[in-house]
Amino acid sequence: LRITICPLEDELNHIAGAVGLFRDVTESERLEQTRREYVANVSHELRTPVSALRALSETLADDMVPDEDTKKRYYSHMLHETMRLTRLINDLLTLSRLQSDPAAIQREEFKINELMTNVADRYAVLAGEKGIEFSFSALPEDVMINSNMDLVEQVLIILLDNAIKYTSSQGNILLDVSSDDNIVKIFVSDTGIGISPSDLPHIFERFYKVDKAHATQGTGLGLAIAFEIIQRLGEEIYVESQLEKGSTFTFTLSRNSGVRS
Ligand code: ADP
Repeated sequence: LRITICPLEDELNHIAGAVGLFRDVTESERLEQTRREYVANVSHELRTPVSALRALSETLADDMVPDEDTKKRYYSHMLHETMRLTRLINDLLTLSRLQSDPAAIQREEFKINELMTNVADRYAVLAGEKGIEFSFSALPEDVMINSNMDLVEQVLIILLDNAIKYTSSQGNILLDVSSDDNIVKIFVSDTGIGISPSDLPHIFERFYKVDKAHATQGTGLGLAIAFEIIQRLGEEIYVESQLEKGSTFTFTLSRNSGVRS
């Protein structure tokens, strides 16, 4: 609580009273703290690949690398870091666009089975490349959704990318969908590494990575983007997971949601 007291003077400059302003600053301070942490995180995440690029290019420019093989390795590290930086910048832009664009999200009618079949076709190939079995079960009858197809596809892609990333070969991924009169639910299940109960509440936070040392390929922003999209669509996303057993991410899509604002 922040208290500000201002004296009130009369015409003879005598203190005639006081005005007290009582303001609950806990919420605004908490937001400010979150913002500061976010900026610090962004800076840190950007600085890491930039420092690596600088060190590698300096070493190469100074002709300090004796043999061709090491040179090649350094160039491929540089490519890797550049790609990481690109992913990070793209994810940050997506997030900030989602958060700052005040315009209502464009809605259109589309068939959910059709969208999911398209995505499933691509991911069956990607999963196959890693030796993961991929199954997709569509609705017996397609239903129309009134939402934003590109954004729904983006959420699917984030969840399926993760399912592949965190499942080893011989594992399974299932893309499933159910529907009642009001709501379509989409499920992405995997038999991957799972998430511990202590990490589970945090995975939708920006930059949260469970395995900080090994998760170099991820930006830690995928699920934060998925969460932001789902919020903007007025829908829900949740996760159930068991360590070493696997995870199921579920999100809702309201049927006839055009009536929502
Ligand atoms: P990242 O880019 O690190 O994958 P995300 O925001 O997409 O970032 O996910 C945050 C963290 O949640 C990941 O680092 C990972 O530890 C965990 N996670 C996400 N999806 C899964 C999954 N399907 N199985 C196990 N862990 C997962």
